[in-house]
Amino acid sequence: MLMVLTLSTTTAWAQQQIPSPKEHFGFNIGDDYQLANYTQTEAYFKKLSASNRTKLVDIGLTEEGRHQYMLIVSAPENIQQLEKYKTISQQLAHAEGLTDDQAKALAATGKAVVWIDGGLHATEVVGSHQLIESMYQLVSRTDEETMNILQNVIILFTHANPDGQELVANWYMRTEDPKKRAMNIPRLYEKYVGHDNNRDFYMMNMKESQNISRQLFVEWIPQIMYNHHQRGPAGSVLAGPPYRDPFNYVFDPLIVTSIDAVGAAMNNRLNVENKPGYTQRGGSQFSTWWNGGLRTAPYFHNMVGLLTEIIGGPTPETVPLAPDRLIPNGATPNPVVPQEWHFRQSIDYSVSLNYAVLDYAAKYRSTLLYNIYHMGKNAIDRGNEDHWTFYPRLVDSIKLAASKKDTTKKDTNKKEEGGGDLSLGKEDTIKNNFFAAYFKNPIYRDARAYIIPADQEDFPTAVKFINALSRAGVTIHKATAGFTIGGKQYPAGSYVVKAAQAFRPHVLDMFEPQDHPNDFQYPGGPPIRPYDAAGWTLAFQMGVKFDRILDGINAPLAQLPYGQIESPASKTLTATKKGYYLNPSGNNVFIAVNDLLNAGVKVSRISSGIFYVPVSSKSTEILTKATTELGIIVTAADVAPTGLKAVAPARIAIWNTYGGSIPAGWMQWLMEQYHYKCTMIYSQEIDKGDLRKKYDIILFATGAIPDTGKPKRDSYWFGKLPKPEELSAEFKPWLGRITADTSVPQLKKFLEAGGNIVTIGTSTNLAYHLKLPVKNALIDPKTNKTLTGSKLYIPGSLLIADVDTTAAENAGMHAKTDVYFDRSPVFNISGDVKKLMWYSTATPLHSGWAWGQSYLKDGVAAFVAPVGSGKLYAFGPEITFRGQSHSTFKLLFNQLYK
Ligand SMILES: [Zn+2]
Repeated sequence: MLMVLTLSTTTAWAQQQIPSPKEHFGFNIGDDYQLANYTQTEAYFKKLSASNRTKLVDIGLTEEGRHQYMLIVSAPENIQQLEKYKTISQQLAHAEGLTDDQAKALAATGKAVVWIDGGLHATEVVGSHQLIESMYQLVSRTDEETMNILQNVIILFTHANPDGQELVANWYMRTEDPKKRAMNIPRLYEKYVGHDNNRDFYMMNMKESQNISRQLFVEWIPQIMYNHHQRGPAGSVLAGPPYRDPFNYVFDPLIVTSIDAVGAAMNNRLNVENKPGYTQRGGSQFSTWWNGGLRTAPYFHNMVGLLTEIIGGPTPETVPLAPDRLIPNGATPNPVVPQEWHFRQSIDYSVSLNYAVLDYAAKYRSTLLYNIYHMGKNAIDRGNEDHWTFYPRLVDSIKLAASKKDTTKKDTNKKEEGGGDLSLGKEDTIKNNFFAAYFKNPIYRDARAYIIPADQEDFPTAVKFINALSRAGVTIHKATAGFTIGGKQYPAGSYVVKAAQAFRPHVLDMFEPQDHPNDFQYPGGPPIRPYDAAGWTLAFQMGVKFDRILDGINAPLAQLPYGQIESPASKTLTATKKGYYLNPSGNNVFIAVNDLLNAGVKVSRISSGIFYVPVSSKSTEILTKATTELGIIVTAADVAPTGLKAVAPARIAIWNTYGGSIPAGWMQWLMEQYHYKCTMIYSQEIDKGDLRKKYDIILFATGAIPDTGKPKRDSYWFGKLPKPEELSAEFKPWLGRITADTSVPQLKKFLEAGGNIVTIGTSTNLAYHLKLPVKNALIDPKTNKTLTGSKLYIPGSLLIADVDTTAAENAGMHAKTDVYFDRSPVFNISGDVKKLMWYSTATPLHSGWAWGQSYLKDGVAAFVAPVGSGKLYAFGPEITFRGQSHSTFKLLFNQLYK
């Protein structure tokens, strides 16, 4: 009977005439020199949707306005009950109100849910193309393995970046001679942020990230998600799971061991199919420390996140000889030998890897479903009781306390202090009571809840933070009435995020400092660079005020529906006879100011930086809208203030370059969000001069201005830059770089003529080119040279900086702020250079890793210097970091008026 049923299902499907990729695209996926664009791929998605094994879901529009699709593939009888299986998946992932037995019963009836995406990084074309091929195979094949997968698994095939595929494929295919086809695209493959579309998955600024996270963290919560990338380390075919340390201590241990298990299945399958070249663990740079990547954010949601980075592309290439990779070891058990490599091989590998994951999910269906419940339940239990996280800083404190108490012990171990003290089997042990002194000590307990008071100064920004949590599927409560905890009163509308929830790891990660372990190649040696950031605590970056509550909380709370997006609390505009005051401490105030200026309303500032707007029908209309929709606080001025300085909209240019600068793209996006008008400027235009006629302000994000050393070879994100003759008139002017010889003199003229320049990160190099009285503060006093990594190493981390709150440039800022520091410059200044921000302590680290941080003490983080009648602003830290560092946006916004 069962057999007949299967047969009839197969036959029914066969009648639907699903075209092969060759029939649809005119070539096989993986043919040399052939790429499909998104228009063609979207049409293929629609053809595949005719199969009763599929359901096509439009998950939202992209930044360029395309439809982003997810093709759900499973057995026809599962497709007819998707809502049921989605609900089971959600119930188990949330792990709320279930007994273990109920969870087991649900796991037995549910289907494993596996996410497979492609195309996120659009020039990594294997990604989008393996997606097409895998979809076709899963929709069309009738072999036993495929049928078993379809019976047991619901596959979510999701296109991660439609705009990028359209751009890259059209660019590659535009060249008639196949051998000359290249991927040297002129702009970023995600409208604003290019490659950083994989750095956005706790913030979700981009539309694609919002669409994807809705499906991942709110709708489906798959037990396994697989994110396809390119490229593996030279001399390998791909890098895949499991990954190297450090892993993040907030994860459930089952995450780490589950990555091991699925990784083994992937590795095994390639070995059985004689496909060598898989490298794992220390064989590549990928770790599980960081949050924010499409593959890594899932770990903080108890989901098994997989990433592979494979070689290959439509233009055939060569696997190079990397002698050290030829010796089989735990990282690379089956080395690949040098050879010519074709696109189709990468597609075949990818399909095999997808099948390995899907076959694993089919075989361990109910285990996967139960395990995600188990992790969620662990998280809820930890949030409901006293719990201590094994932070490296607490472990270090134990070691320090023990070494102080037991001097004999210290002496016997002296030899090992410089190194080897953690080598296997030789760990130092200390008395057990040191454990209780820290890990049973109530003051070191994890928080049970975080309260975000509604009466904080910049509540609309706090609401943006809440929305980032909500997009990540976090359970959020809102106070329906005022309440008091520990003597403190909180108004109605305050938000409460409880730790007792399945996604507790993500909650801790967004509110607590990351404590990156000291990670060196060998004791005293160079640091091992984290895969991305070391610290990123979003609440700190956004300057959100919150209280950590260490005990259970009793308050009048209502839970928000999962994924609900909140609006800032509406305010009412107070009537006034004279005018309005707008305090720039609220970031949204700048939106209102720009709307007023763009409407031709007169806006001024008083000496404190507070904006003043005379009352008129137009200003009242705009500010009524702003108070209602943006939640800004406007106060009435009964008397017109004196000492007003008028502000006017400035003509703003953002430096950019051929291929697209990612930091400049983030800046452009930020400018649009806050209603600044700006244009892009390229080095050729700068070199032509006469800049003052066209612009008032030029912005240089990090990476624009070279250092003062020898000019370096012109590097480019996607390999070789095209020659000017290969480009149309539209793109030719984008080629070129900022040079000391030609560009800097024109920038100097611009400044002297009264233009202002804002530089961030390495672009503060401009101060050195202009020979301002500014020096690098990070110099080794012994050698007089730049400090080496073994002495000073601060990868992406949050530091506390001091702010001169009397400076108009810092209007709205507080005396202390978190800044995003990423090997950022620090200065010593003299003369008429004015200090805006600095590091006043020897321990500025707030979240992340800051080896040798005491070198920063008294170093200047930001300054403004007069140059002729213009000003150069220099900000060492990334004050607009990935659209996340709301606490420092004002440092830019304040400077953007005439
Ligand atoms: Zn990638």
